Amino acid sequence: MKIQNYINGQFLPPVADGWIDNYCPANGEVYGQIPNSSKEDVESAYMAAKSAFPTWSQTTLEARSRILIKISELLEANLQRFAEAESKDNGKPISLAKTIDIPRAASNFRFFGNAITQFASESHESIGLNAINYTLRQPIGVVGCISPWNLPLYLFTWKIAPAIAAGNCVVAKPSEITPMTAYLLGDILKEAGLPKGVLNIVHGLGTSTGQAIVEHPGIKAISFTGGTATGAHIARVAAPMFKKLSLELGGKNPNIIFADCDYDDMLETTVRSSFANQGQICLCGSRIFIEASIYEKFKTDFVTKVKALKVGHPSEEDTNIGALVSKPHLEKVMEYIEIAKQENGKILCGGNRVTVEDYENGYYLQPTVIEVETDECRINQEEVFGPVVTIMPFHTEEEVLKMANKVKYGLSATLWTNNLKRTMRMSNQLQSGIVWINTWMMRDLRTPFGGVKASGVGREGGFEALRFFTETKNVCIKY
Ligand code: NDP
Repeated sequence: MKIQNYINGQFLPPVADGWIDNYCPANGEVYGQIPNSSKEDVESAYMAAKSAFPTWSQTTLEARSRILIKISELLEANLQRFAEAESKDNGKPISLAKTIDIPRAASNFRFFGNAITQFASESHESIGLNAINYTLRQPIGVVGCISPWNLPLYLFTWKIAPAIAAGNCVVAKPSEITPMTAYLLGDILKEAGLPKGVLNIVHGLGTSTGQAIVEHPGIKAISFTGGTATGAHIARVAAPMFKKLSLELGGKNPNIIFADCDYDDMLETTVRSSFANQGQICLCGSRIFIEASIYEKFKTDFVTKVKALKVGHPSEEDTNIGALVSKPHLEKVMEYIEIAKQENGKILCGGNRVTVEDYENGYYLQPTVIEVETDECRINQEEVFGPVVTIMPFHTEEEVLKMANKVKYGLSATLWTNNLKRTMRMSNQLQSGIVWINTWMMRDLRTPFGGVKASGVGREGGFEALRFFTETKNVCIKY
């Protein structure tokens, strides 16, 4: 099947008629094609967005909200269809797509549909000067949203929903590796009555289609989620045009386990925080530090649980670990396992490809646990973004804090302890945008989301996202 762009409310082939193969990670076969969109396609998406902007930006909040909530309801009504498409396109277990990815995409629209009706700005009375200031938060105009392949519709909508709620018009590009659910969204946008041109979806390669969005002088803000190197490149291109930028980038998150934690809860959650979505979540805790007194017990129990995970075809309901997203990504993850071996890392379980019967060419890999001698080895410092974690013991709070912070990234950190004072001390000092205590990936959409250091710039989520997608203007009146 051939996926189309969605521009000005219409499904369109790319102007230059160029196409890219779309692979199914579960069997390694090409199952469709997507537009290899050029600058011309981005330009027509931009023109559609530009002409929709005057009306959309003046549409009442109630009317915008109603459309966003309608999109959310339609996604929920089409849960099975979208979940199957996401699982096929990405390789993720259908159970995950059904319970996390698609429901969360629906909540993104519902949440921002409601949030925009509560978004307010400030006023400052200048006492003694007979003046009052009020702040306007106005939509920016045409904005660009670029998202990655790991949580395709979930992250695509995380950007688009606040952008349109705030009154902007959007040119959006999903990852070329996982375009399917963004394509299917077009039908829902139509059915929900989103006016044409408000949201335009252009498919293609990051280096050409994505680059054309970032380079476009009329696109005033870019919200990007993806790798750190791509984020740095986008920042370089956008800087001379003074575009507003929100960059959600890579991570190498520590999972710090103290002996006084609730052990069973920790163990179960740690299996999830290590391997959910084949470890391809920017928030996965890929460096596990365990207090020395429980290290041996943890090692035995953790490896036993990891070995019991079922690697299988994504469409089977009892599959825990599906296929990695692509062949090059599988090869990259396997290279890191080799690097770890060369660095004296001890493979406690996993490390090899898995052959799933009837799907021998699928990109399956065993969940892998590596015991490392030092936190400074490459496998402990560089983002692998696959089903691979390292474990090592620590002795003191100071020591583990130092190791946790000694990476270039700073997205999230997880801490397992029942000691309140330690919780407070460490949360203050961990260098990351998000700290989870005795839990992982518990999300409340009102909270700020984003990273420090090489994990990004800016925050999304709740009113932070609405602030990003609006331009702030102060008006001062003397009376
Ligand atoms: P990439 O950086 O390769 O790609 C992300 C998106 O950017 C894709 O749509 C890609 O297109 C596009 N792109 C690539 N080059 C350019 C360019 N020059 N100009 C504009 N757009 C471009 O990341 P991945 O898709 O490989 O995603 C994995 C990365 O995302 C990991 O590093 C992960 O940590 C990070 N991530 C961060 C999250 C966060 O919230 N901090 C959440 C999830 C993932 P195409 O795919 O077509 O090349």
